[in-house]
Parts: sequence; structure tokens; C-alpha cells
Amino acid sequence: MKAVRYFGHKDVRVVNDLEKPTPKGDEVLLKIGGAGVCHSDLHIIDEGTVGDLVFTLGHENAGWVEEVGDTVTDYKKGDAVLVYGPWGCGHCKPCQQSKENYCNHQSELGYGGGLGLDGGMSEYMLVPSSRLLVPIHDLDPVIAAPLTDAALTPYSAIKKSLPKLMPDEFVVVIGVGGLGHVAVQILREMTGAAIIACDVTEDKLEFAKSLGAAYTVNSKDADAAEQILKIAGIQKVKVVLDFVGATPTIELGTKIVSMDGDLTIVGLGGGYYEYSMNGLPFGVSMSNPYWGSRTELMEVVGLARQKKIHIEIEQYKFDQANEVYDRMRQGKIKGRAVLTP
Ligand code: NAD
Ligand code: ZN
Repeated sequence: MKAVRYFGHKDVRVVNDLEKPTPKGDEVLLKIGGAGVCHSDLHIIDEGTVGDLVFTLGHENAGWVEEVGDTVTDYKKGDAVLVYGPWGCGHCKPCQQSKENYCNHQSELGYGGGLGLDGGMSEYMLVPSSRLLVPIHDLDPVIAAPLTDAALTPYSAIKKSLPKLMPDEFVVVIGVGGLGHVAVQILREMTGAAIIACDVTEDKLEFAKSLGAAYTVNSKDADAAEQILKIAGIQKVKVVLDFVGATPTIELGTKIVSMDGDLTIVGLGGGYYEYSMNGLPFGVSMSNPYWGSRTELMEVVGLARQKKIHIEIEQYKFDQANEVYDRMRQGKIKGRAVLTP
């Protein structure tokens, strides 16, 4: 079968000779409908963050059940499902709470399909347990695939800050890409806070406005922090969601966040922050959330089925994978790219 494989630092190739797996026990074989292209793939490809492993890329996956192992009773051929991405042990306390993104055994198990183990940029994908599937009912797997990360990750980050996102407050979204464009919509639907979106190109800022941002600021501007503080006034920004995570965006966040605010760094841009007593207003919670829980993914499917959020997608074939990663390096993708067989 055809698949997009990672062979090492800056080496991604499309192969045609992978054997179609057979599911055993609780495993499920999916026929892939779509696999989202996440910026985390670029951290793996360009920065070699997973080391010397060889595997199929794609950690945002959706498709149809093709075949189930002999102990699977809850799914049948043809069911449309998402694959929950962070594969935990399934047994420890965080996993029992459905937070497999924080599984106690993550360091031994790795990070899941497409992140060291075989993922979904493949005609068929083997999922280790039916526990990791979430039904999508009438949603199209091609459009739904990015719900598993581009929507789940901002959803989980925003949910933690909901009590602070009142209608008289301001929230800043830095980076209106795959994750950020969904974050703006989740904030629009689930909170009353005024949304200020930051990115580095005019098209991304226009895009953010079309999705519900009340204000936009180009974070390349030397006075970006001053522009944001002028909008928010003396109360400053209650919640900053940084979907870039580079040193300049983290610095921007520390300048605009209010006392008792949340500075949430989701982006894995390799940024550096040195804590100092006077560096942050009092009461600020700085956090680095990772992905979201299985039950939160079910909630995200609810948002999509009610048409409260939609993923803007650019659709490509597996054969175009390298071309798509290049578009992403240049910041040219509007919303999320999804690869299909
Ligand atoms: P993307 O490439 O789709 O979007 C990134 C956006 O940020 C682009 O619109 C780009 O123009 C913008 N940008 C770049 N530099 C900027 C700056 N200085 N100021 C403002 N905007 C800037 O990326 P994505 O797939 O949305 O991922 C975003 C980040 O989140 C990546 O680092 C990714 O690895 C990370 N991520 C983290 C988690 C997690 O669980 N913590 C999950 C998924 C992705
Ligand atoms: Zn676990």
C-alpha cells in the first residue's frame, strides 16, 4: 500500500510497497479518508525531534473501519471514525480519566501513530485499540481528520481558561494557522471575550477577521504589544493563546497578559523564557498544554456536527506530501492541509 514515510532528518518519501496490516485482538484496521498535515510534522522532519525512527507520518487521522480484531465488538466495517492521537497505556489514572495525552507511561510508549509509530498517511492504518476511535456519524472523514488535533488541542487549552473568558475581557490568539484558525472559532462560539488575532501576514489577519476576530495585529510590528494594550486598555489581556511558541511570541505574551491571567503556550517553536520575579504580572498562570483528552475529542465532534466550527481545508494527494510541507514551511496554507490516498 501507498504511504508517506519519515526516513530521518529532512527525508520524507512516498512508498508503494508497505504491506496491509491485519488487526488482531482489540486492534482495528482503518481505510484512511484523510490525514491532516500538522506543523508538528515539520518539527520532526526539520529538527529531527524523534531521532532515528522510520515510520508513516500523519497523526490527524480519519477514515472508515475496514476490519476489526477478534475481541472488538463495538465497531463494524464502514463506520466513519476519528483516531484519537496520543496513545496511552489505557490503564493508568490519567488514561482512566481519558487523558491519554498525559499517560504516565508516555516516555516508554512513545507519542502515538505518526509521531514515532505508523500513522495515517497511508491507505490503511492499524489502530492499537478500538478505545482510540471516536465515531463521526455524518461528518466527512476528509474534512473531519484535523478535528483530532487542530481542533482538539485549542479546544482543550481554551476549556481550561473558560471561567476567565467573560464578555468584558480580551483574549489574544497568536498564529492563525491550522490550530489558531480553529481556536478563533471555538472562542467565538464558547466565550464572550473579544478576540484579538495576531499573525505575520495580511491574508492571515483577514482570515482571522472572517472567523470572528474583532481586532487583528501584525505581530511582526515592533510595537505589536503597544497596539494590543491600546485595544485592551488598563485591564490588559486575560488569556493569551500562543500557537507559535517562539521566543518573540512568548515575549509578546508576557508583555500583554493581565494580572491573574493565563499565558498558554501551545506552539512548539523552541522558544525560551527565563522566569524572573518581576517578569510577569502577579497571578499569571503560564502553561504548556499537550493535545487533549478522548472525551474532549467527543465534545469537539459535537461542535463540528452542530456546524459551530469548520476546518478550512486544502486537499492534496499523498504524492504531494513534500510540496505541502514546503507550503507549510512558507506559512502559505490557509487553515489545514489534508492528504488523501
Ligand atoms: P501552522 O503552520 O498551520 O500555523 C502557524 C501559524 O503561525 C501560521 O499562520 C504562521 O503564519 C503563524 N506565525 C508564524 N510566526 C509567527 C509569529 N511570530 N507571530 C504570529 N504568527 C506567526 O501550524 P499549526 O499546525 O497550527 O501548529 C502550530 C504550533 O503548535 C506548532 O509549533 C505545532 O508543532 C504546535 N502544536 C502543539 C500541540 C500541542 O499539543 N502542544 C499540538 C499540535 C501542534
Ligand atoms: Zn496511561
